[in-house]
Amino acid sequence: MVRTRFAPSPTGHLHIGGLRTAIFNYLFAKANGGEFILRIEDTDKERSREEFTQAILDGLEWCGINWDDICYQSKRNGIYEKYLNRLIEEGKAYRCYCSKERLERLKEEQLKRGENPHYDGHCRNLNEYPEDKPYVIRVKLPEDNIDFFDHLHGDMHFSYKEFDDFIIRRSDGSFMYNFTNVVDDIECGITHVIRGDDHLTNTAKQIVLYRLLGENPPEYTHVPMILGEDKTRLSKRHGAKSVLEYKQMGILPVALVNYLLRLGFSYGDKEIFSFDEMVKYFSLDRLNKSAAVFNPDKLIWVN
Ligand code: GLU
Ligand code: ZN
Repeated sequence: MVRTRFAPSPTGHLHIGGLRTAIFNYLFAKANGGEFILRIEDTDKERSREEFTQAILDGLEWCGINWDDICYQSKRNGIYEKYLNRLIEEGKAYRCYCSKERLERLKEEQLKRGENPHYDGHCRNLNEYPEDKPYVIRVKLPEDNIDFFDHLHGDMHFSYKEFDDFIIRRSDGSFMYNFTNVVDDIECGITHVIRGDDHLTNTAKQIVLYRLLGENPPEYTHVPMILGEDKTRLSKRHGAKSVLEYKQMGILPVALVNYLLRLGFSYGDKEIFSFDEMVKYFSLDRLNKSAAVFNPDKLIWVN
């Protein structure tokens, strides 16, 4: 069964880029008789706020994007610990006690030698652990190239040399995004990941984690970003508003959803789709490969 998810971090309001990602995931699931999961990625305690979570839920509901299930990463630490322990027991992840000062020094030396700064594996084979010293957990990056297929970008190749033994748990015990994202996609049986192409490098790291955990990755579709008229990444500057601001302005949700669907999706000359039609016609093969340009005037016009 097809299962997709929308996984926002509640560190800000729901913007139209996020809403568009949610729409694609929702429509793909429904077009294939599958399920759409909402996952709130609220592991960053400093930056996550309850009010943003609520605004995301309200915005999606207002647009008619109903989830079949919802989960909160902040309540799933036990699950992440289980996966982490497996990696440590199998020697695929390890404690790193390096101080900030050592890492700073390392970085300076590497830059001086003209290298890209990277962790040097200093703590990979420690025989004993210093007592009462804080540590992070890093993965032991395998020296294999990283390949995956993306529905829009085709075959993707990354050299392991572009990465280092990246951190999966911080010294305060909180987990890093790439790790929790992979564990949850495995645990929730996610079959297809549709998200912005700003995540392509994260996907390479996530493929490493799937391999280390002995699991199969989902299928990927990384969609181009929405841009402003000046071809830079869309922001408030371009007149883009948050989803709830559009609600307050009296824009109809079906107009907003149609507009976002048509930004990056081709289907002949047809202008307006009902929700049923969107589900009927949606297919990943009709997503555009090039970035879409947001035009606020067009949005008002649709209304
Ligand atoms: N929380 C991540 C974000 O908001 C999720 C990305 C993903 O879909 O994996 O960018
Ligand atoms: Zn170290």
